[in-house]
Amino acid sequence: MSNGNSSYDLIIIGGGPAGLTAGIYAARARLKTLLLEERLPGGQISTTEYVENYPGFPDVIKGRELTQKMEEQSKRFGLEILSLSKVIFLKDAAVGFEIRLINKKSYSTKTVIIATGASPAKLNIPGEKELIGRGISYCATCDGPFFKDKKVIIIGGGNAAIEEAMFLTRFASKVLIVHRRDQLRADKVLQEGVLKNEKIELILGSEVIKIIGKSKVEGCIIRNKKSGDENEMAIDGVFIYIGSVPNTNFVKGILKLNEKGYIVTDNELQTSLPGIFAAGDVRENKLKQVAVAVGEGALAGVSAQKYLEEMKNKNL
Ligand code: NAP
Repeated sequence: MSNGNSSYDLIIIGGGPAGLTAGIYAARARLKTLLLEERLPGGQISTTEYVENYPGFPDVIKGRELTQKMEEQSKRFGLEILSLSKVIFLKDAAVGFEIRLINKKSYSTKTVIIATGASPAKLNIPGEKELIGRGISYCATCDGPFFKDKKVIIIGGGNAAIEEAMFLTRFASKVLIVHRRDQLRADKVLQEGVLKNEKIELILGSEVIKIIGKSKVEGCIIRNKKSGDENEMAIDGVFIYIGSVPNTNFVKGILKLNEKGYIVTDNELQTSLPGIFAAGDVRENKLKQVAVAVGEGALAGVSAQKYLEEMKNKNL
């Protein structure tokens, strides 16, 4: 258990697949390592009902179960994990870095791996902010059961939107997928499932421009992008799956970020500040997948080890 003001070889920020994998590699290398997690370990994938494309589980595995196994594995090698520990501040110190939590505890460390992942993007349309948690959700796995026999819409056409639409058909009487283009972005295998499901209806080439409701969602206005026609529709719930934004607020102005806010690294996953590495969805990369996050977590863990060895050789 950490009491704050402690010193580490490596601090990993974020406990999703990338952070947990980095932790497994660092703990096995016997680095004094602490993993700080804002909530509970697991990351975004733990809110996904089933993971079908992570190798090694031919019968599919629940997202939560997969990350619990990763956490168990990391603890078996002695990784120290501190949950409910939101990092708000990271500073380059004389040797290494200082990290401060929202509860004012601070830690010093020789190296850092940032694996804070990404959060659901907001649509920023009228009614969204006001009705979050009152019929608007970004997590079907968490909130789907509240919509038994109700009519819901899903906004988005990517893998997340389509997988979660399928999940919602277990509860809802009708699931409408509203997507801004005429073609879905999701993998073909997922699209095939949607076409076979009688509870799902596609509304393509359209966008939701307003969500209506006083104390809870009652309806929405959908605009056809070609004709410009606007239709008001009664609905009970809205699930928004339009991609993600990286969790990088605490390193703005400290590390190099790309125009979308993702952390830029070199091939060893080192950021613009030597000694700080990044892995997983928070990093500028081409594919946001658990398999990629796990690979990057392993590489960042090894890169941090090499960096520490070089520091030792230079007597720093
Ligand atoms: P995504 O693949 O980026 O898809 C986002 C969807 O939202 C796209 O269809 C996009 O439309 C739409 N969109 C974006 N901004 C919008 C706006 N302002 N208004 C309306 N629609 C908007 O995001 P995701 O589905 O959340 O997935 C994120 C990453 O996780 C992806 O790399 C995905 O492959 C991965 N993932 C994988 C799996 C899986 O492999 N089983 C499951 C879930 C997620 P356009 O198509 O027109 O751009």
